[in-house]
Amino acid sequence: MWWFAAYAGATLLPVVWLGVLLAHTFTEEVDAAALRQGEAQAQAIADAAVEPFLSGRSLAVGLTPTERDAITRTTSNLLAQGTVLLLRLRSNDGTIVFDAADPTAPMAASTVDEEVQEAAEHGMVATLTRVNADEVDLDRGATEGPQAIEAYVAISALSEPEVTVGVLEVYIPFESIAAQRNSSLDHLRLSIVVGLAVLWMVLVVIVASVTRRVRRQSKRSEFLALHDTLTGLPNRALYGDRVAAALAAAGRTGDDVALAVVDLDRFKEVNDTLGHRNGDEFLRIVADRLAAALRPGDTVARLGGDEFGIVLPRVKPDAVEAILRRLQDSLGQEAELEGVAITAEASVGYAMWPEDAATPEALLRRADLALDTAKVARASIVRYHPGIDEFDPQRLGLIAELRRGIVTGELVLHYQPKVDAHSGEVLAFEALVRWQHPVRGLLPPADFIPIAESTGLIGPLTAWVVDSALAQMAEWSKIRPGLSVAVNISARNLRDELPGWILNRLAAHRVKASQLVLEITETSFATDPVRATGLLEELSAAGVRVSLDDFGQGYTSLGSLGHLPVSELKIDRGFVVAMQHSAEDRAIVASVIELGHQLGLTVVAEGVETEEVFADLRSLGCDTMQGHLFSRPVPADEVMALIDRLHASVGVGG
Ligand code: C2E
Ligand code: MG
Ligand code: MG
Repeated sequence: MWWFAAYAGATLLPVVWLGVLLAHTFTEEVDAAALRQGEAQAQAIADAAVEPFLSGRSLAVGLTPTERDAITRTTSNLLAQGTVLLLRLRSNDGTIVFDAADPTAPMAASTVDEEVQEAAEHGMVATLTRVNADEVDLDRGATEGPQAIEAYVAISALSEPEVTVGVLEVYIPFESIAAQRNSSLDHLRLSIVVGLAVLWMVLVVIVASVTRRVRRQSKRSEFLALHDTLTGLPNRALYGDRVAAALAAAGRTGDDVALAVVDLDRFKEVNDTLGHRNGDEFLRIVADRLAAALRPGDTVARLGGDEFGIVLPRVKPDAVEAILRRLQDSLGQEAELEGVAITAEASVGYAMWPEDAATPEALLRRADLALDTAKVARASIVRYHPGIDEFDPQRLGLIAELRRGIVTGELVLHYQPKVDAHSGEVLAFEALVRWQHPVRGLLPPADFIPIAESTGLIGPLTAWVVDSALAQMAEWSKIRPGLSVAVNISARNLRDELPGWILNRLAAHRVKASQLVLEITETSFATDPVRATGLLEELSAAGVRVSLDDFGQGYTSLGSLGHLPVSELKIDRGFVVAMQHSAEDRAIVASVIELGHQLGLTVVAEGVETEEVFADLRSLGCDTMQGHLFSRPVPADEVMALIDRLHASVGVGG
């Protein structure tokens, strides 16, 4: 409360000054009153004890014996009783004509006192002084006496009141008057001190409470200026500050910062169907969930509408995706609004500092750009990359087309056989997706899977692939019950709901779990190995087989391979094609086969194009083959004929 003490101190000064001024003014006033009292007393003495006994002659010629006797009589009493301390009669020129202390003394010439002259002209002069304090008296060798009111009163005889015959000089003792004056002064001073002290305290209290209220209010308005009223989250202005601060700190420490923008996908529907009040409530729920899912140093701000900004300072670039997916998942949990269960689907775009942008402005813009891309696909997480061409709406157009294409059935599956290396029997078919684009023709997965993966369209795409492949498998298993189907699953598909969803689809199509193989690339384990492992363990436990696709390309440590829930290794096509000419690649293939077997895994070689490679792989102990030597991927309706042809060529019975 330093400001309170400061205020109290600052107001004390003028209050004390006012007190001193008041006290001074009142003292002067009281002194003047005392003086007036003295004057009145002097006048009364002149009226009663002197004037009635004067004949009317000027005192300049002295008193007649009669006058002297009478005045001696009346004034000696006054002197004796102490009513006056000194009483003299002077002529107008100041000559002492009579002194009550020594009535018989002769007239004594004296220097003309100014007061005498003034009194002779104006009737009365009174001052507060001491007995014999006048220079004239001191000159005469008199000693200074007690405090008194020295009054000079013009004297005239009763017979001729308008003629001033002389001046009466009296010293009236100040003691009794002073006592009165002091007591009234004490009283006044006390009143002033108490009054001002009370006034001051009241002022301090009032100002303190007003100040407190003003401070509270200014704090509140400061909060309002920087926060969103609906959700209480920082607003765009504060978000800008936080971004700047995070980047500045990152500049010092060398940390990375992630800037993400989250946009709800179907907020308008919520608003339209449940009303604005529920829409607001929904936004509050979203805000709470976002805030709860972040670390204490992170920022989540409402940028307006259904758009939220997130700053993740000091973050590892490869952890960002997992954090954002966690955010998305927490939004995806059901919330109840007026008895209706709804979930929030959100698209997220983000950009990394300093990797993705050189200036804060560019970082903000690129996160927005990533969001735009994410929104096209709905409910996806997209990181900015130079491929998001800021000036190429064509790519964004392709995303929109793919989204529509998935729904309208433009995707097709081709199937490529996996053949037993020793018996030549067809064991399974790998489902490989193509896009029958209305204008561009049949597009290979390389032309659209990366886009799907970077936008979140991979979700619906994989769902379509799995569903179609299982529907197909249900048909085939009527004819060939031992056959399996393999589908490719992207890292981005490894979400919590995947196992439940797949088991649900298996049941729906009445396909056994053992007839489904999920091909997962090694890199899927790289981002979030614990999560990926957990999800796949759940599926393996249900009987679904997992195959590690493109093995050898990635970074799976051989040590961890034993802990992954996989039952098959697919040696990357690159090694298989190259082994014919490169001893090194052949050695790699040989050791992968060896390792796979030691871990109890089936080893598959993909990209088998020649008889030589096939023979070599077989001699190395490879279990299963896949490649153009047997067949290119073919449309579903050619599969049965293909099986027959392949089996006939190796003499396997149908
Ligand atoms: P992958 O899973 O490794 O699939 C094998 C790829 O090798 C297929 O290419 C196949 O046509 C090709 N291939 C097969 N035999 C040979 C051969 O003897 N020589 C050569 N040079 N190539 C051969 P495709 O169909 O173009 O697929 C490419 C990749 O696209 C796949 O690699 C897979 O990673 C991805 N993909 C395909 N379909 C899907 C899908 O439905 N979902 C996902 N997520 N990815 C898919
Ligand atoms: Mg594959
Ligand atoms: Mg492969």
